[in-house]
Amino acid sequence: MKWRRCGWIAVWLVWPGCTGWAFVPHWVDVRGLVPSIETEIRYAGASNFVGEVIDGYHAPRCLLTEPAADALACAQRRLEPWGRGLRVYDCYRPQRAVDHFARWAADLSDQRTKQTYYPYVDKAELFDAGYIARRSGHSRGSTVDLTLVAGDAPLDMGTPFDFFDPASHTDSPSVSDTARNNRSLLRAVMEECGFENLAEEWWHYTLRDEPFPDRYFDVPVE
Ligand SMILES: [Zn+2]
Repeated sequence: MKWRRCGWIAVWLVWPGCTGWAFVPHWVDVRGLVPSIETEIRYAGASNFVGEVIDGYHAPRCLLTEPAADALACAQRRLEPWGRGLRVYDCYRPQRAVDHFARWAADLSDQRTKQTYYPYVDKAELFDAGYIARRSGHSRGSTVDLTLVAGDAPLDMGTPFDFFDPASHTDSPSVSDTARNNRSLLRAVMEECGFENLAEEWWHYTLRDEPFPDRYFDVPVE
């Protein structure tokens, strides 16, 4: 009886108790929805803290659930009259990519990217300090990493994306007034459109009413 109940319910919604159900959300390609949003999908290339293409990123695409993509379009619309726009670094992230991060963090012999991404943090502490985790909200499909641009130029946000350091905290007092203002502008616009910032990362936003709050997907980005 249980499988039958799961099957019927799954026609209407995703039933969390139905393990093994290979449900895939209807992903929206953000560039298809809003071509003016810039994409620089870091994990689909080598320009990231691991230093190589991350598992599950077969294409440099920003895929999100429909409500998250609509909310991102809202933010872009609000910025455009001010000559500002969004550049996204990461969107939906398969679980296998998060597993790749964890493998990298456990390999203390690999310090190739230290100078660029975590110069002041010991790699052995990345898990305990919360910079690397076994799961990510990105795998739920309604979380995005992004920055602001003016034309083609990214604005000064005080630190680079994925810089593992307290200076990346959105309200860090250690960055310039300009960077703090830019972080505040990004947060204001994203909050108006339904997102919530992660206080430890100025670039990380999750849709407040995300449609799959308990699901961690693992289909590759194609
Ligand atoms: Zn993020």
